[in-house]
Amino acid sequence: MTITPLMPVYPRCDVRPVRGEGCYLIGENGERYLDFASGIAVNCLGHGHPHLTKAVQEQAATLMHVSNLYGSPQGEKLAKRIVDHSFADTVFFTNSGAEAVECAIKTARRYHHAEGNPQRHDLITFNSAFHGRTLGTISATNQAKMRDGFEPLLPGFKYCDFNDLDAALAMIDENTAGFLVEPVQGEGGIRVASDEFLKGLRKACDEHGLMLVLDEVQCGYGRTGTYFAHEQYGIEPDILASAKGIGGGFPLGACLATEKAAKGMVFGTHGSTYGGNPLAMAAGEAVLDVMLEDGFLDHVKAMGERLRSTLEQMIPNHDHLFDSVRGKGLMLGLKLKEPAVARDFMGFAREHHGLLLVAAGENVLRILPPLVIEEKHISEFAEKLSDAARVYSPPADD
Ligand SMILES: *Cc1c(COP(=O)(O)O)cnc(C)c1O
Repeated sequence: MTITPLMPVYPRCDVRPVRGEGCYLIGENGERYLDFASGIAVNCLGHGHPHLTKAVQEQAATLMHVSNLYGSPQGEKLAKRIVDHSFADTVFFTNSGAEAVECAIKTARRYHHAEGNPQRHDLITFNSAFHGRTLGTISATNQAKMRDGFEPLLPGFKYCDFNDLDAALAMIDENTAGFLVEPVQGEGGIRVASDEFLKGLRKACDEHGLMLVLDEVQCGYGRTGTYFAHEQYGIEPDILASAKGIGGGFPLGACLATEKAAKGMVFGTHGSTYGGNPLAMAAGEAVLDVMLEDGFLDHVKAMGERLRSTLEQMIPNHDHLFDSVRGKGLMLGLKLKEPAVARDFMGFAREHHGLLLVAAGENVLRILPPLVIEEKHISEFAEKLSDAARVYSPPADD
């Protein structure tokens, strides 16, 4: 037998974390890493945040799980807070991002069904999108590496170039349900939607009675400096998928919708055994307690600007390696120049300089620190990154 007990679907690296302290991860043998990956944009409050830890501990001892057949004072409270701070009128809680996107897709289809237009079942999605790993969500991307070998996939998706508004509008037909789009593509390489693009999609949805479905699983929840990223575009979606930062490390996701968009989501249409259980709600409450404190989002904006300008200043010193910086807030991408390969350089910075980053599409290094970083962490990051850049040599291309 050569297969490992843990199904070998991840190319796991040598870092084996056993403990976390704020912006640092500590490995099995005491190695210390500066964590600018944050569990891929999940640990927004860093590791071991006292308020989040206490909330989960106390709730675990009080009531961990009950069925959704019972009333949920915990769910009602968190949903109300999310509704009060967003475009949404209603929230469905899930355990992951993919499930939040699944719920968003179902909500969009069901809206048109309820409107008497069941033929409007197609969502237009975008090249390099990432929406999760369920059969539904891999059907919503055209990235071959996620889809190959899993066919037949779910029908009802069409793919268009990201940021190409004219092409997206040209794809609308009598079967179109709406658009599914990340305001900032994460996995695809920190590609930021243009103002014109998102505003144009919103306008088209209004004109044609379509649903604008945003996937803010990665870019939402404070990551870009506002509670949700779309706030910076002056538009509102009809439906939004959230996850990652929403639980600060506890598995939690949410599908948010307006009353109109959720028209079809009536008794019996959707469900989840764990979704929104008291333990998850306690984590979600604790994250919001911190995130909605005065000054938290301003701090994210300030640190984002600081980190971005630090990176921009580094580029001329390493211009054989670094190309450009992109992103919003603390969701930044550093594009590398060939022959350097983001995945390879990321491994080098990790192994030799104790710096954790995430590689993404288009040869981009994703920089996703905890939202609670301070200037000293940015200085330490800059030191580690420039040390790594100075001694790194790209893989020989043979
Ligand atoms: C991570 C991610 C997902 C999937 O979330 P999971 O919790 O892994 O299911 C979906 N959409 C985007 C934009 C993501 O970044």
